[in-house]
Amino acid sequence: MSFQEIKDREATYVMQTYGRFPVCFDHGEGAVLVDVDGKEYVDLTSGIGVNCLGYHNPKVTAAVTEQANKLMHVSNLYYTEPMIDAAEKLVKATGMSRVFFGNSGAEANEGMIKIARKYSHDKYGEGRSKIVTLVNSFHGRTITTLKATGQEHFHHDFFPFTEGFDYAEANDLEDLKKKAGKDTCGVMMELIQGESGVRPLDADYVKAACEFCRENDILFMVDEVQTGIGRSGALFSFQKFGVKPDVVSMAKGLGGGLPIGAVMVGEKCADVLGKGDHGSTFGGSPMSCAAACAVLDEVTKPEFLEEVEKKGEYLKESILAIGSPEITDVRGMGLMLGIVLKNPENRLKIVGELLNQGVMVLTAGEDVIRLLPPLVITREEMDRAVAVMKKVFGS
Ligand SMILES: *Cc1c(COP(=O)(O)O)cnc(C)c1O
Repeated sequence: MSFQEIKDREATYVMQTYGRFPVCFDHGEGAVLVDVDGKEYVDLTSGIGVNCLGYHNPKVTAAVTEQANKLMHVSNLYYTEPMIDAAEKLVKATGMSRVFFGNSGAEANEGMIKIARKYSHDKYGEGRSKIVTLVNSFHGRTITTLKATGQEHFHHDFFPFTEGFDYAEANDLEDLKKKAGKDTCGVMMELIQGESGVRPLDADYVKAACEFCRENDILFMVDEVQTGIGRSGALFSFQKFGVKPDVVSMAKGLGGGLPIGAVMVGEKCADVLGKGDHGSTFGGSPMSCAAACAVLDEVTKPEFLEEVEKKGEYLKESILAIGSPEITDVRGMGLMLGIVLKNPENRLKIVGELLNQGVMVLTAGEDVIRLLPPLVITREEMDRAVAVMKKVFGS
């Protein structure tokens, strides 16, 4: 089928919620994708942080194939081992206590919000249900997680939104203390804000915010949907920031390409959700959890995480070495990087030209090109991408 036919059928049958680039992908290997016409692309997006072990990873493929040959789904009314294995791996790698599996980042954050509200309600009763998030955060696309997102331009069209959210300026402890008062049960933040521009929070602020929450019995909740699963150079970014959250959400990279999300709690909240309090039909699917086990076995290896760190440094330095006046900064952690542009009005043109020449990137915020390459990307693949950037950015 020609690309034009594919495009026409999509426009006819699929809701037009995405501005898609004019490429249809067929398969991939490592960090390289191939479109239906056989053209190759170095992927610096990982399907927005999902394909952390790249395409056609032998371990993930084998785990999923083996599981598909045994059992794809039974309900959560029964036990399945891959879910328990995945939960055990997460708990043992973090010192947290328990895990609940769902299917996406937004669903994981919904779980996190429910935990905060129930923890507080069980202990203090009514009037303590507010959740404070940060300005420029992104937490998902459900009615509640849109409202949790600290960006006004997401709060339209779908009224009424869920009540009980407020937003504090990032890196401003006084503002957090002011917003998170006696009516507050939880504070939720991304430690590196992703969607709004790849902005790592100040480590001192994160520590102080965590401490403030602990002192006031407000749950400190970290959205690791994008930063988790090795992306920052640690399994979770909170480990890099040296804090111990009460609740952590994750999704994107966890299934290595299969849909899965999870919310993980520390000791304080281990028993907040009991029988009947929460559920998800597909949550903990043996397929997704088998993939997650394969991913976690790789991503929890210290040498793997060290490589992520080194590769992130290498990519950052290589991009800075282009010396383009268009690039004012490259910021981020591990393999979560943002190229800050001097002239953001050129961004779409640059992204389109990179794609034309076989390099896929993302955008974030107003003026950033966001890079979330597969964590297994090789130096050769990075060199190939940077050579194209050099041409597109000039020097
Ligand atoms: C992507 C993302 C989400 C939403 O995840 P979905 O799987 O699309 O629901 C939530 N929080 C953060 C930080 C994200 O990057």
